Amino acid sequence: MSEEQTNPAAERIKERKRNAVQPEEFLKGADAIRPTGNEQKLSFTDSFADRLTEHLEQVQADGIGVTDLAKLFGVPESEVTEREFEYTAWQIRNVVYNWPSEGALLFDIATDQTLRAISGEWDDVPPRQRFMIAQSLRSFQDECLFCGGIPDFNNKPVTSCCSERRVLTFRCPDCERRFLEFSTESRENSHIGSNV
Ligand SMILES: [Zn+2]
Repeated sequence: MSEEQTNPAAERIKERKRNAVQPEEFLKGADAIRPTGNEQKLSFTDSFADRLTEHLEQVQADGIGVTDLAKLFGVPESEVTEREFEYTAWQIRNVVYNWPSEGALLFDIATDQTLRAISGEWDDVPPRQRFMIAQSLRSFQDECLFCGGIPDFNNKPVTSCCSERRVLTFRCPDCERRFLEFSTESRENSHIGSNV
């Protein structure tokens, strides 16, 4: 590859700066989110929620494969490997990304497909930012897209052998899928969703 003449990391950073988007403006522009009644809160637009639900059903039926992750992260399929951990994890190049549930990953892949279908600019958004946008959109589910339950934030202590820490989760109480998980006290794994 011709990248050998330049520094690929530096090139990627330049590329990222060129294309980085302001997520809220981008999502409003794509008619994916809108302010709700009191203007304080943002929600999915109805059309986006419908399309996302359709893609989610399709992804659930087809299952997730290397191709889906390669698209989301903008890498060749040879750079994607599923990892066998006790949680959902995939290695992209040399970074292991993890998800608090299979449902969270299904959601991200469906989001990638939906935004790809409605916005010509989505493919130009830096892949890492695409992942971060998908992650944050998980918390926009006023109703769980899998079962219609009402997901909520739950801040409960998790005890391990030697310490207790609090973990903030955004999960659906009905189907028990966890969509987001943050440690609120420990610095280690402070952002469990991306593990970087
Ligand atoms: Zn649910």
